Amino acid sequence: MALSRIYPVLIFLLLFFSCLGPGRGARNYPDNEVTLLDSMSALGDLGWEAYPAEGWEEISVMDERNTPMRSYQVCNVMEANQNNWLRTRHIARHGAQRIYIEIKFTLRDCNSLPGVPGTCKETFNMYYHESNNDNLWFIKESQYVKIDTIAADESFTQTDVGDRVMKLNTEVRDISNLSKKGFYLAFQDVGACIALVSLRVFYKKCPAAVHNLAHFPDTVTGGDSALVEVHGSCVNDSEEFESPKMYCSADGGWLVPIGRCICKPGFEEGKDYCQPCRPGTYKASAKDAYCTKCPPHSYSQQEKASECTCEKGYYRADMDPRSMACTRPPSAPENGISTLNDTSVALEWRPPRDSGGRGDLAYNVHCRKCAPDGRKCGPCGGGVHFTPRQFGLDAAKVLVSGLLPNTDYTFSIEAINGVSDLSPSPKQQLTVNITSGQTVSVILKERKSKDSITLAWQGPDRPNGVIVEYEVIYYEKNQRDQNYTVLKTKSNMMTVEGLKPGTTYVFRVRARTDGGYGSYSGEIELETSQEDMLAIGDPNQSTILAVSIAGGVVLLVFLVACFVVSGRHCGYIKAKQDPDEEKMQFQHGRVKLPGSRTYIHPHTYEDPNQAIRDFAKEIDASSIRIERVIGAGEFGEVCSGRLKLPSKREIYVAIKSLKAGYTEKQRRDFLSEASIMGQFDHPNIIRLEGVVTKCKPVMIITEFMENGSLDTFLKKHDGQFTIIQLVGMLRGIASGMKYLSDMNYVHRDLAARNILVNSNLVCKVSDFGLSRVLEDDPEAAYTTRGGKIPIRWTAPEAIAYRKFTSASDVWSYGIVMWEVMSYGERPYWEMSNQDVIKAIEEGYRLPPPMDCPVPLHQLMLDCWQKERAERPKFSQIVNMLDKLIRNPNALKELANSSIWEDPITPEFSVNSVDEWLDAIKMGQYKDNFTSAGYVTLDSIIYISVSELSKMGVTLVGHQKKILASVQSLHAQGSHVQV
Ligand code: AMP
Repeated sequence: MALSRIYPVLIFLLLFFSCLGPGRGARNYPDNEVTLLDSMSALGDLGWEAYPAEGWEEISVMDERNTPMRSYQVCNVMEANQNNWLRTRHIARHGAQRIYIEIKFTLRDCNSLPGVPGTCKETFNMYYHESNNDNLWFIKESQYVKIDTIAADESFTQTDVGDRVMKLNTEVRDISNLSKKGFYLAFQDVGACIALVSLRVFYKKCPAAVHNLAHFPDTVTGGDSALVEVHGSCVNDSEEFESPKMYCSADGGWLVPIGRCICKPGFEEGKDYCQPCRPGTYKASAKDAYCTKCPPHSYSQQEKASECTCEKGYYRADMDPRSMACTRPPSAPENGISTLNDTSVALEWRPPRDSGGRGDLAYNVHCRKCAPDGRKCGPCGGGVHFTPRQFGLDAAKVLVSGLLPNTDYTFSIEAINGVSDLSPSPKQQLTVNITSGQTVSVILKERKSKDSITLAWQGPDRPNGVIVEYEVIYYEKNQRDQNYTVLKTKSNMMTVEGLKPGTTYVFRVRARTDGGYGSYSGEIELETSQEDMLAIGDPNQSTILAVSIAGGVVLLVFLVACFVVSGRHCGYIKAKQDPDEEKMQFQHGRVKLPGSRTYIHPHTYEDPNQAIRDFAKEIDASSIRIERVIGAGEFGEVCSGRLKLPSKREIYVAIKSLKAGYTEKQRRDFLSEASIMGQFDHPNIIRLEGVVTKCKPVMIITEFMENGSLDTFLKKHDGQFTIIQLVGMLRGIASGMKYLSDMNYVHRDLAARNILVNSNLVCKVSDFGLSRVLEDDPEAAYTTRGGKIPIRWTAPEAIAYRKFTSASDVWSYGIVMWEVMSYGERPYWEMSNQDVIKAIEEGYRLPPPMDCPVPLHQLMLDCWQKERAERPKFSQIVNMLDKLIRNPNALKELANSSIWEDPITPEFSVNSVDEWLDAIKMGQYKDNFTSAGYVTLDSIIYISVSELSKMGVTLVGHQKKILASVQSLHAQGSHVQV
């Protein structure tokens, strides 16, 4: 007989509805879970198969809303050999690879059932059967795959029931790697008293999200722990800047955003969307972050403007940036001045009063001429030459040469700029008129004596102004180049005195007006007399010459421009010595000063065998007993065995041997590990017992670490250690690393795989060596600079330019912390090395592993500071971990895996310093603040870095975080209720 009839189980089920959360219709599940079946929401018959008939029975009860609810119970505890099966309907999988099954059930404690035989059970089994057929009416027991045996965390007794204390158990199991359309679940009872209150089957997805303006769709998580790589699509009105992608983790969270979209021109970034620029604003390039106000003399009337339209009369040149004000052509140049000099004229003017708002001002000079009779006007033609040029002049002047004499010239000077050609209006001009080259007509009235000649002449017919003076130039014939004399007079005659008797002189005359000099008259040759005599009116000698010749002298003006080339200082900048620089002391012999020992690089020895002799003890091969092979190293097998040295206890050792057929270099490299390891003496550094070099095979003997390498060890014991045990391991590694960094040894390949663990869970740093450290590491990948580097463990500066320091070891230590806290998970999962480098560069850091205490993740983040000077030193890490071990309460708060959290600004009001420190996840410093007297929130407002250091907050990252939060509290004001 079914005992359920006697010990009713389900009549108490209603009591559970309050425990089951909100009303059934309104059951809220996390948004990353998709329910495939929920027995609580099934309104009708669940339609599950139960066999044999006297086994599981379906019970219908009313919930608190009077809605019928289906459940199953079985309680055949009085009879032995029970085998009762309950099978669900076919559950379609909808493409999910990992399915979660959540069951809620009650189980009666066998001891509480009076008179039940020993066959009474307190467990039941759960199975599944994959099938494409959704209408199987029978499945053989052997066709089921067992999921688990389910036991109750809490069973209950009749007394509990009487006291209305019901024990509802919730268990979740998962199945993965499904390939068929769906599956059936089955529950096998073998003689327990169970009520199956609810069954929920679901899978997990990463819910649709927008990040960096890229939309990532709902994504079903992968099977096992695989990440699913998802490419995002840019939200409306945005475009790809760098291909956006994220990874969907197995537990339905998004990880490692890479790349981004940016809003198109005319749109700016809002929260997860692009919004149009408002009228009056614009955005020209997708790369600009925000819309900005239209520049002067422009406007946008519509939304989404990618550029603003120029106001009437204003223009934008093709090359003008869209952010530049619209501009207009310049006004006309002003105040033209001409200075005529024979057949050339220098024109000068003042720049226009209005430059149009631009700096690219230039001038064009147009030239027209008219013949002396005022008729026959036209362009000046090719004979006229402009210096430096006619069009596009930078300076407000030009020299015009090659003018014809007695000609009227009109120069129209216009100022232009980059938008002159865009304006339909004619250009405004300045006009300068000149009449060129008026030649003096010389009427020679010659009066000669033996030392003087008198000349008279007639002024130009049409002078271009009032004649100011005449210039007379003369020289001895054929002597022009040596000596000539210039005389000036206001009248139109002159007596030139002091001449040599009986000598021929050449004379020329020109007039000057306000407009400059006219052309010279033709040359006249006159000879002084031998005797002193008057020769006026001599018809043979006095000649009236009407000279009207075009001037024959062309003055050339050469301008020599001297360019002063400013020479550059050539030189070099000496690279600054970095205080963190890897220091390798090149010296022989061991330095034994206490507290100041420095690691000695084996390469500093000319004879590497000497390094071995200095640092490693030679062991007689007969004292070693090899027992078994435990691993494979680069140079040969690694074995375990025993070492018995005279008058010492026998100890377990690891024996690395160098395989036969090695080269001399291989032998040197192999033994270099021993000559490095032999210099160290610390409980967290693998200890060298000695070497065998005198016979073959060559061997390195170290202490034996029973649990092998840390990464494999953690994977094997997933979830089995307490937080304090894990922190203890981390403390050991940090202590070993502090010792190494104090000795100026930079490890370069710190990773869980290079840490060994002994039977007492003591972790020791291993894997020393020279080049081989990285050559040997399967994780090391070649970088663009050629070196081989374990990318995921290495600080960015070491990847980028091989800057390996103790600070880069600290970065690797942070990764080891993450490996430890996640029980040997691979850092950055299956992301490619390139993606890892890119993500780190973009500021991404690994999220806290599951159940990782906040201060530990914070310490990891500190180790991963971009600026290596801001990373903690190993001594600080050791102190910090010691503090956490002494005060395990600080480890209680577990980090939230959310990748978007902002720990700086508390979202809620804080009322005390302690609350505030908790809110910014700096709770570990509560005591420091209290002892330093910072007990009220108003007292922290003016706290300084030096104050923080004094009270023991020495990590730069923590100081920054605290000060940033103080600032933000200060700014918010309202959050602080002091
Ligand atoms: P190695 O060449 O140092 O990387 O060593 C290869 C493998 O041998 C390691 O991954 C360990 O599993 C094992 N091994 C090396 N040294 C020891 C040791 N001292 N104690 C125990 N196992 C060791």
